[in-house]
Amino acid sequence: MPKTRFQALVESRNREHINIDETGKRSDLFAKNVFNEDKMLQFLTAEAFDKVKSAIFQGTKIDRKIADQVAEGMKAWALSMGATHYTHWFQPLTGATAEKHDAFFDILPNGKAMEKFGGAQLVQQEPDASSFPSGGIRNTFEARGYTAWDPTSPAFIYKTTLCIPTIFVAYTGEALDNKAPLLRALQAVDQAATGVAQYFDKNVRKVHATLGWEQEYFLIDKALVNSRLDLSVTGRTLVGSFSAKGQQLDDHYFGVIPARVLGFMSELEKECTRLGIPVKTRHNEVAPNQFELAPVFEEANLSVDHNLLLMDVMEEIADKYNFSVLFHEKPFAGINGSGKHNNWSLATDTGVNLLSPGSTPMKNLQFLTFFVNTIKAVDTYEELLRASIASASNDHRLGANEAPPPIISIFIGKQLSDVLDELEGVSKGKLSPQEKTELKLNVVGKIPEILLDNTDRNRTSPFAFTGNKFEMRGVGAKMNCAKPMTMLNTIMAKQLTDFKKEVDVLIDKKNLKKDEAVFNVLREYIKTSKRIRFEGDGYGVEWQEEARRRKLSFNKNTPEALQVITAKESIDLFKQMDVMNEVELKAHKEVELGAYIFHIQIEGRVLGEMVYNHIIPAAVKYQNLLLENISGLKEVYGAAHKKVAEGQLNILEQIGEHIVEIKRLTDEMADARRRANGMSAVDKKAQAYCNNVRPYFEKIREHSDTLEKLIADEFWPFTKYREMLFSK
Ligand code: ADP
Ligand code: MG
Repeated sequence: MPKTRFQALVESRNREHINIDETGKRSDLFAKNVFNEDKMLQFLTAEAFDKVKSAIFQGTKIDRKIADQVAEGMKAWALSMGATHYTHWFQPLTGATAEKHDAFFDILPNGKAMEKFGGAQLVQQEPDASSFPSGGIRNTFEARGYTAWDPTSPAFIYKTTLCIPTIFVAYTGEALDNKAPLLRALQAVDQAATGVAQYFDKNVRKVHATLGWEQEYFLIDKALVNSRLDLSVTGRTLVGSFSAKGQQLDDHYFGVIPARVLGFMSELEKECTRLGIPVKTRHNEVAPNQFELAPVFEEANLSVDHNLLLMDVMEEIADKYNFSVLFHEKPFAGINGSGKHNNWSLATDTGVNLLSPGSTPMKNLQFLTFFVNTIKAVDTYEELLRASIASASNDHRLGANEAPPPIISIFIGKQLSDVLDELEGVSKGKLSPQEKTELKLNVVGKIPEILLDNTDRNRTSPFAFTGNKFEMRGVGAKMNCAKPMTMLNTIMAKQLTDFKKEVDVLIDKKNLKKDEAVFNVLREYIKTSKRIRFEGDGYGVEWQEEARRRKLSFNKNTPEALQVITAKESIDLFKQMDVMNEVELKAHKEVELGAYIFHIQIEGRVLGEMVYNHIIPAAVKYQNLLLENISGLKEVYGAAHKKVAEGQLNILEQIGEHIVEIKRLTDEMADARRRANGMSAVDKKAQAYCNNVRPYFEKIREHSDTLEKLIADEFWPFTKYREMLFSK
């Protein structure tokens, strides 16, 4: 067996047993390392505390004097916790997080050393971040980017560094990150939803979006991952014959968690708890070595930060347990990939979930209002929602019969469908007293009971209502949730703004009562957004055909899916909601396309290297062994050897054929890459990579996987699926 593979296997099998310590109450650890309200009360002046609170709640600005006070308090707390460094923690468009650490330590003009951290350092930092993608916004020679404090997400200490969540923007104001647009979208939805929520409760002053993600991931022994060029470089296996046993027995799902994994989870959860990430659920997922972790939901901006932080912490702790954690959406062919369902809702500052029905008809009308508006928003902007979850790696998963299709539709269940059908029949204009009573008692009034037994959950739907929230299921495991959350909250803000205008017109001009006006507008929305509702099997071919008839978009790959971002309607929408301007939209799209190109390019190169430097040499080695054997047989049997060596000759021939083909395809792929690289327009180039380069991957893989089955195990260069997927 090749040395790398052999050593990796031995190493992975000799891992030391780790004792797990699950003792201690989690609530004692919660947010220990977070500069939250408790700590602020302790370390800030009353004035600074109030100003930070109103910055969080009302978005007011914090002036320099207060910033100095906050920095002083933060520093005192951080030093008391043993921190030595601080960093602005931000989310460049790479999709990951970035940080640049500075020591608190400084030398004063008089030569004395001290720990320094002032308002200036808290509020703004200028990392030399010219290498981050900016889609042309930031010319490296001119305007640079800077990071600016986001007081709505509390600072935290990770190891010995005080981390300050920040946005990353160009000096000209354009967002160079995923957080700035998200914050603007959340502000837009707050404003629009508050206006609508006030129809039902005058006391509502703020609405925030809530997000609860469910993170899926694989844990594979580190040595095994490192033994494979493809996994360690691209995050997925580009070749690999399917193992005889996969997930068909369903014996992993919700099964007993293996000891080493449990050790990892336990330590991870403790660390998360200290960081204020409210992790709650852990279990085995469907595929072998696949797991899931879910928190209690939080305000969306904080939840996004927590998910990003979680992914960083996971990588670090996995390493300690000699695991590599794989977030790639499709690391292994033939078994399930990983997603990150985004559970989303809107909640008021009075503590009401707007997508949860209540105890009175009025509360249920409020529920229906937000429910139907969500359906309408998704119907109008389904293609944008699809664009927000597009990436090279997620392309493998969407539509792969384990994840929702790339066609966006909404599942609401039979009972709620019946309610909407009834509402469709509401009279135009004023309602008669009888009709009002009927609606109150038999339609709106019945909703809570309906929801209680709304257990019928369609797992194939990309956007499903699950009792008191919508669940966006197409989000990729590796993704920054900021992207889909920015999109969803922006379209919701726009929809609620339009809704309020329409209702107000009916109230002011047509003299309708508030509830009559609401019913009238909802009735029209229900009628016009029907095509987005689909209760059937989202995996079926029939649905693709049906979706085409309904004129829903069906963008199968990333370059196609991203086009809509710069369509005129999208530019208008984002401008009107004050979330992104045209320059930003174009730049963000360009960065996404650029990332797509790089991913496919790197995969192509790695695959080429695997074929030329590993697969063909292994095949040749085995050919030589066969040849030696056949010559030996010929010496003994003479002309009769053909009969005795028939099997070997046949294998020899097959291997020869596969070598010819795999080499031809690999050369053609390199040519296709060369042609694509010659293109200057990023759109065209991404399409070329998608349509002309990527199709070779599967074809090459087929030959490689057949060779893997033909060639003696001892010659195969790569750690096999069964060796990776069933290691404990
Ligand atoms: P499941 O849907 O898997 O049965 P749950 O209903 O408990 O499980 O919720 C799954 C995820 O949805 C959790 O992360 C949870 O925090 C989140 N969630 C629950 N309610 C809301 C809400 N109102 N807004 C956003 N996320 C929510
Ligand atoms: Mg799940």
